[in-house]
Amino acid sequence: MNTQSKLTILGTCSGTEPMPGRHHTSFTLLHDQRLYWFDAGESCSYTAHLSGIDMPATEAIFISHTHMDHIGGLPNLLWTLRKLATVSEDAKRRLANREIRLLIPDMDVFEGLMAVMRGTEGGFQPVFDLVPALVTDGIIYEQHGLRVQARHNFHLGPSAPFKSYSFRIEAGPKTIVYSGDVKSIQDIDGLIDGADLLLMETGHHKVDQVCQYLKDSDESFDKLVFLHHGRAILADPARELATAQSILGDKVQIADDGMELHL
Ligand SMILES: [Zn+2]
Repeated sequence: MNTQSKLTILGTCSGTEPMPGRHHTSFTLLHDQRLYWFDAGESCSYTAHLSGIDMPATEAIFISHTHMDHIGGLPNLLWTLRKLATVSEDAKRRLANREIRLLIPDMDVFEGLMAVMRGTEGGFQPVFDLVPALVTDGIIYEQHGLRVQARHNFHLGPSAPFKSYSFRIEAGPKTIVYSGDVKSIQDIDGLIDGADLLLMETGHHKVDQVCQYLKDSDESFDKLVFLHHGRAILADPARELATAQSILGDKVQIADDGMELHL
């Protein structure tokens, strides 16, 4: 088994109006030749396919919550997988009769999505089986050397049923924590410790406050990459990076669309 993983950030923007050079939030993780998607903001499959990402290797799609900046590209991702199987014999062979799991924290939204898909070509009958499952607290995926733990956060309210989640992803020996959207950085307390990579949103938070909180925290991590950018980073990423690095040093980076991270 090849234990090295490649993470590709497809979109780095929070839920703003269209921004030059940045799309809404999505990233892929290629682990042991299988492809996993985390959130599916606008254009994610367009960007992935044209970047040479091996889309027929798709194994599962994880959605943190169903706001548009995290699912706007989901129908098109499913449609593109179907399309690839109609234009490529190789894609068809690799996708046929295989399960692709969609983990989503709101089944009403999934049903609505399926209604949209049934209105597309051929009633959306792909060669693969799309298998939905509800995201809940705990281990939501454990296969092929990838383990994903979900934990609810308070982005969409303080009480159950929770419909917004953060993820701790163990890919072989490496651990990635993805905040999703959080009400406060405290939402992911206890999830971070030992992470090789922390992907933290800044759509709802100030960079200096997040960095100071993490610096003062008992939890350790090797690297912090900001994504899901809010207005401050969108306006002046160099200024915000300098602020972040003045607190956490060079372990912090600000993601751009297309950034690749090798773990
Ligand atoms: Zn968002």
